[in-house]
Amino acid sequence: MASAAERMFPKLKPEQIERAAAHGHIRRVQEGEVLVEAGAQNTRFFIVRTGRLEIVRPPGTDEHLVAPLGPGQFTGETSMLAGRRGLVRIRAKEAGELIELEREQLLALVQTDSELSEILMRAFILRRVELIARGYGDVVLLGSMHSPGTLRIKEFLTRNNHPYSYIDLDRDSGVQELLDRFHVSVQDVPVVICGGDVVLRNPSNDQIAEYLGFNDAIDQTQLRDVVIIGAGPAGLAAAVYGASEGLDVLVLESNAPGGQAGASSKIENYLGFPTGISGQDLAGRAYSQVHKFGAQVMIAKSAKRLKCDGKPYAIDINRGLPVPARSIIIATGAQYRRLSLENLAQFEGNGVYYGATFVESQLCAGEEVIVIGGGNSAGQAAVFLAQTTKHVYLLVRSSGLADSMSRYLIRRIEETPSITLLPHTEVTALEGTDRLERVRWQNSKTGKVETHEICHVFVMTGAVPNTRWLDGCLALDARGFIKTGPDLSHDDLAAAHWPLARLPHLLETSLPGVFAVGDVRAGNIKRVASAVGEGSIAISFVHQVLQE
Ligand SMILES: Cc1cc2nc3c(=O)[nH]c(=O)nc-3n(C[C@H](O)[C@H](O)[C@H](O)COP(=O)(O)OP(=O)(O)OC[C@H]3O[C@@H](n4cnc5c(N)ncnc54)[C@H](O)[C@@H]3O)c2cc1C
Repeated sequence: MASAAERMFPKLKPEQIERAAAHGHIRRVQEGEVLVEAGAQNTRFFIVRTGRLEIVRPPGTDEHLVAPLGPGQFTGETSMLAGRRGLVRIRAKEAGELIELEREQLLALVQTDSELSEILMRAFILRRVELIARGYGDVVLLGSMHSPGTLRIKEFLTRNNHPYSYIDLDRDSGVQELLDRFHVSVQDVPVVICGGDVVLRNPSNDQIAEYLGFNDAIDQTQLRDVVIIGAGPAGLAAAVYGASEGLDVLVLESNAPGGQAGASSKIENYLGFPTGISGQDLAGRAYSQVHKFGAQVMIAKSAKRLKCDGKPYAIDINRGLPVPARSIIIATGAQYRRLSLENLAQFEGNGVYYGATFVESQLCAGEEVIVIGGGNSAGQAAVFLAQTTKHVYLLVRSSGLADSMSRYLIRRIEETPSITLLPHTEVTALEGTDRLERVRWQNSKTGKVETHEICHVFVMTGAVPNTRWLDGCLALDARGFIKTGPDLSHDDLAAAHWPLARLPHLLETSLPGVFAVGDVRAGNIKRVASAVGEGSIAISFVHQVLQE
């Protein structure tokens, strides 16, 4: 079996090189010639025929050899498929002959040659994983464990698979020197330093995406066959099926690919992954697949308003021109319910969390934690956190878990001695100054109140749909979820002035050509598999409405 290094930097066979060559052209290079500069948009792919290339870390740091490439080896990693900026410099170590493919040609190659697609996609993904593991990025985050903004930015970069180095003000020595060098003070934290010179003080995710050029390759004003809003499992599935079936697809995502599933520590019931898969891994794979088929994804762009009074439809977004669309798939999912405690916001991201991933688990290793909720996400969080924390208190309002949680999770919880289930229990107060220090809870049956020195609370209590931005364009149910297909009554269609002789398709909303899939849809079963299923089904109806 090939070693990890061989899989990351494989050698193509002569016949494979010739097949790739048919998509591009031959290029001669001289010793020392720079083919791609670090930080430049990554649009060209090279295979070495003769000679030698070297991949080096960007200038500004001590130049460092990441990998040498000899005959049969090739450049590229996942940023290339998305047309984003590269993180390394590629230079000819020796004069020689290369095969050069533009990004569009590379996409055509991976879409049509399954053998080469497997080798290239695997190498691209492994290389990105390696860049992340080694922190070989162009971003330094200066932050503090006690600042919610730091956690937000860490999650944003991590979930967008962007490598970064982290320096903690409370732990790392020599920080003052760095603060002085960039003229920033402790009050500015979190600070993001991009490319060694741009200094962003507590930037929004949108600003970070802009400075890192996440959306540079995308023309948002181009009229698309389908615009998908939300890049959770439902939106990503729709993008993969749409793009693979020849549609021009653009996805808008407020935060990072993967949605709620991306925040899940381990998904164990998704078909095909018998040992489970983390939400981050599932999202990362899906995201590469989306790019392989040529769909584009705008990161840190939220749909703010749907212009539904004429065709083509258009979507207003934060900062930027409206995005026109011949058809739309809404896959914006749902958001966690929050605890109704006055000072909750003070501790959000600073002791109160809505996801239990590796990032949060590092913050509370060896300590006691509270998980609130009786559903599957609460159960998973409790089981996951029990592996690294001292003790998990699982608080539920009802008398037990049987009605709300999968049987396998209930069994795990019962069998884990470091999890204590507390039924009929609710958190009544959060206390602390800079960060959460104490939690009070009450048993509603006995009235008994207890206070514990616990600094980490994971709230997993269900969700409300992300539909406020629709502003009356679509028929919603009483809880704000989008009604589709047979769930739309005659009254709903009459109120929406449904203009067609046919009834809405399955998953179609009260507006022709606008679909809703996944957790945001009324009546949806809130699972990764159903979100993926609905996203892919919607595409078959998109084809039909585009013919109308
Ligand atoms: C912690 C946790 C664990 C879970 N574990 C499991 C499990 O093990 N198995 C299982 O089957 N299911 C699990 N689920 C449920 C599953 O994750 C969801 O059912 C699934 O993610 C729904 O997918 P979706 O694409 O419909 O929505 P989401 O995953 O919610 O994705 C919606 C996306 O839309 C984006 N968005 C929202 N509003 C806008 C806007 N206005 N503009 C642009 N983008 C927007 C969001 O940022 C998000 O990325 C879990 C959920 C959680 C929270």
